[in-house]
Amino acid sequence: MATAKLFLKSKKDQSLMRQHPWVFSGAIKKIEGYPTEGDIVDVHANKGRFLGRGLYSDASISVRILSFNEEEEIDDEFFKNAIDRAWRLRESIGITEDEGTNIFRLVHAEGDNLPGLVVDVYGKTAILQAHAPGMHMQKEIIAKQIVDSSKGRILSVFDKSGESLPKNYENKPDPEYIIKGDNDMEEEHYLENGYKFNIDWKLGQKTGFFIDQRDNRLLLGSLAKGKSVLNTFCYTGGFSIYALQNGASLVHSVDSSQSALDILDKNIELNGFADDRHKTIKADAMQFVKDLPLDYDIIILDPPAFAKHVKNRHNAIQGYKRLNSSAISQIKPGGILFTYSCSQVITQKIFRDTITAAAINVGRQVKILHQMTQPADHPINIFHPESEYLKGLVLYIE
Ligand code: SAH
Repeated sequence: MATAKLFLKSKKDQSLMRQHPWVFSGAIKKIEGYPTEGDIVDVHANKGRFLGRGLYSDASISVRILSFNEEEEIDDEFFKNAIDRAWRLRESIGITEDEGTNIFRLVHAEGDNLPGLVVDVYGKTAILQAHAPGMHMQKEIIAKQIVDSSKGRILSVFDKSGESLPKNYENKPDPEYIIKGDNDMEEEHYLENGYKFNIDWKLGQKTGFFIDQRDNRLLLGSLAKGKSVLNTFCYTGGFSIYALQNGASLVHSVDSSQSALDILDKNIELNGFADDRHKTIKADAMQFVKDLPLDYDIIILDPPAFAKHVKNRHNAIQGYKRLNSSAISQIKPGGILFTYSCSQVITQKIFRDTITAAAINVGRQVKILHQMTQPADHPINIFHPESEYLKGLVLYIE
């Protein structure tokens, strides 16, 4: 069957000419052919010029471009090469050779020129989460190449796309192995910078762990000695473990998910910190920060994405402002605040402006010590600024 062709409205070709890989439904003028979910389609400018080739979807992002080169076919070879390139990038940043770390992101969607696909590695297992149906349809070839390019490192590939595919998508897969080695759940824990973590990648949130905070957890560790630390939205305690290991005097970890806190308690034990320095608190963190029980030296705010779409951006900004105002107003003089946003629609500038508004609100002196983002295994496609989704500030509050 001939590849369907989409023609864009005039002037709607600009972002593709800058190699931004999304085509929104509103930009399409006409379609030649009858593409269905996940088909490969060609995108042309109004006057006919070829712009790119990608995966069609009946959604607001109608096409995710995989190639801007008219000569390049999107076939098995294409996906094999793309996965191989993702491995080579991880080798070049040293993460595959790091003896203290066997948790990393292998494919970061647009950041690896594979829009709609995330793959995270936990020991000998890779967890695949497709966000685009067209990408999910390629899971067999992708999984095989993840193993083939891994130089013996990956034995199993597990598909957890049921929860990442669009809500209205009908063919939602159950969680299952695409390739099953003999290592299933053999690995009792995983390693990040030498710290041990229990990770329930089958039932945990996202692929099981928030790998994107790895470098930021190291930074927190470097500042934690002798400090009292409040870790809100703590999940399974990534920041808490680094704080305890680096000599924090006390760590309080707050989350609303009991299953996350159960794993956190196991992680505390696993790393040998079953002492009275740590306390797990099940609470709504938005409420908890309104009236803190202690003057903490360090507070971490790492909430889930408050806005997934531009239409929710305003409410999200109000949420960040409230949360940060509470922390800035109550932290000890000379305290340090680690504050994050992982909403793709909140840019670095908007986030910083929001924190500025919170600081003005509270009326304390606030200084930026560090500006943070995601680590190198979550590369940012320079043509797709949205792939820089994690924003963080380390603030000193006088
Ligand atoms: N900092 C963590 C990742 C945080 S992910 C880490 O390093 O691993 C966001 C967390 O917020 C999740 O664990 C989720 O359960 C929790 N959460 C979501 N809404 C919440 C709320 N209102 N109160 C407390 N925790 C919440």
